[in-house]
This record gives sequence, C-alpha cells and structure tokens, in this order.
Amino acid sequence: MATRLDGRALASRIEERLSSWIREHVSRAGRPPGLAVLRVGDDPASGVYVANKERACTRVGMRSLGAHLPAHSSSADVLAAIERLNRDDAVDGLLLQLPLPAGLDERPLLAAIEPAKDADGLHALNLGHLLRGEPGPRSCTPAGVMALLAEQRVPLEGARAVVVGRSILVGRPMALMLEAADATVTVAHSRSRDLAAITREADVLVVAAGRPGLIGAEHVRPGAVVVDVGIHRRAPDPDAGPEARPRLCGDVRFEEVEPLASAITPVPGGVGPMTVTLLLVNALASWSRRCGCPDPLPVVLP
Ligand code: NAD
Repeated sequence: MATRLDGRALASRIEERLSSWIREHVSRAGRPPGLAVLRVGDDPASGVYVANKERACTRVGMRSLGAHLPAHSSSADVLAAIERLNRDDAVDGLLLQLPLPAGLDERPLLAAIEPAKDADGLHALNLGHLLRGEPGPRSCTPAGVMALLAEQRVPLEGARAVVVGRSILVGRPMALMLEAADATVTVAHSRSRDLAAITREADVLVVAAGRPGLIGAEHVRPGAVVVDVGIHRRAPDPDAGPEARPRLCGDVRFEEVEPLASAITPVPGGVGPMTVTLLLVNALASWSRRCGCPDPLPVVLP
C-alpha cells in the first residue's frame, strides 16, 4: 500500500514555521508581513479561494490587505488598484485572483504586478528566474509539489520524472523545478502519442492535465511516486441526501493506482493545501528581503 503524501499535514507544519519566523523577526522588520489578494467581480468559487487565502494569512500572523473591485471595473480601474498595491509599503505579496470577469484581459494586468511582490510566482520575469535557476518567487502549485517530494525524501537526482500537462500555471514550471533537482524530465500533453508508454517510464509522475480520472493502473510503473494536481467537483452521491456537498476527485483514479504506487497524493488533501501555503511562503520571503531579515526559505521549507 502506498504512503499517502499528506499535503494538509505538511501545510500545517509549514504554517507553524511561518508563524514562528514572523514572531522572531517582526520587531526587527518593524511591521508584520502583508499579502494583498485583489478580487474583481463576484465569481463564487473565487470568493471561496480568496476567503481561504485570507484565513491562512490570519493564521500565520500576516496582514491581509486585499481589495475587492466591482464586476463592471474597467481594465484601467484594475491597473490603478495594482499600481496602488505595488506602491504600498505594507504589501509584500500581491496576487490577482483569476478568472477575471469577461471582457478583462488578464495578461497586461498580471504583467503590471511588481515582480518582487508577485506572490503567485507567475510573472514572466520570475518564470525567467526559474528557467535560469536564479532566486525569486516560485509558482505556488509546483513549488508545493516539490515540498511534498522533499518532505518524503523522494530521490530526484537521476530519476525519471514525467509531467502530464504543459500549462504555464503548473506543467511547465513543474518540469523546470524537477529538472533543477536533477531529474530527467519528460513533459506529456494532449497531443502526445501513447501516453501510457510515456508515463510508465516515470519514477515520479506528476499529473496536471485537468482531466478527471485520466490516469489509471495502466499508466503507472509499480513503485512509482504519483502526484495528482487535478481537482474536479463531481455531483454529490445521490444517496447522500439533499444536504450532500460535491465530491472532489483528481486526474488519477486513486483506488486503481494506490496499490501500485510507492507514494501518492490524495485529492482532496494532497497538492491543494500546499498551494495556499506556498503563497504565504512567497510573501514571507519578500517581506524578509524588503525588511533586511535573513532568507527564511531554508528554515520554512523541507
Ligand atoms: P490547463 O487546462 O491549463 O492545462 C492542462 C494541460 O494538460 C495542457 O497542457 C494539456 O495539453 C494537457 N492535457 C489535457 N488533456 C490531456 C490528455 N488527455 N493527455 C495528456 N495531456 C493532456 O490546466 P492547469 O491550469 O494546468 O490545471 C490542471 C489541473 O490542475 C486542473 O484540474 C486544475 O484545476 C488543477 N489545479 C490544481 C491546483 C491545486 O492547487 N491543487 C492548482 C492549479 C491547478
């Protein structure tokens, strides 16, 4: 039976380290760290994500300095809010919650975020730093996966890693991070031929395809480490009554793959909780740098 890579437990251990780091350095810094989540419009799922991020800030002792703009805001309104938060000295990390209301192009707005405050680690300059192996905020979801692998001491040097998915959000930065850890990386995508033959090569298989149940037993080499980034809402069990909540599942058929794998992330409770924690890590690193404190990364991450 595979070891469960428990993202909820690791996220809460990292949060404790973030809290202690803040307590130890706040007097030298002269102020607590601040994270600003900028929300535009009333997408209900975004509302839940923003509330989660704000609660996480409060738990570790960061100030939550976000703003909520109405759905009819123009691109110039959003840009003005980003520029105000860029200039605000109390803001160490800033992110624009996606998706934006129809009609707003996210690209120039994301590009306007001050790269040093880019809490999501998705600014082109920071993706460039990742490519070059230079320090900078890292994309939260793949950085969360790396932390889960490091905590479990999964050997990456010389290992065969396969990433399914090539999005800017997950697949591409994931492949770069695995390569930086000296794995030999293959990226598979929607046009790849014979996906199972590619994924069966993997010692470490990271799946971020956004396709529920795409990966089954036929895709996994016995003993592989399997990380499932996908999150999908399924209708509640019809027998569970009217109060039942939607169930979550991933891109991996967990029941089929768990008996084969040496370690596997569950959904929920695997990669998801790590993403929010890595957002806090990026904001903390920015605060520490801006306030002349030491680099917290070697202390807070496994
Ligand atoms: P995306 O749609 O931008 O990219 C999906 C990628 O998968 C594409 O590169 C595509 O080529 C590839 N793909 C699609 N179908 C495929 C197939 N049949 N075979 C091989 N490759 C295929 O999605 P994304 O933003 O990268 O997100 C992927 C999944 O991860 C989604 O389910 C998303 O909800 C989830 N996600 C989770 C977190 C988290 O915190 N856990 C964060 C971000 C994304």
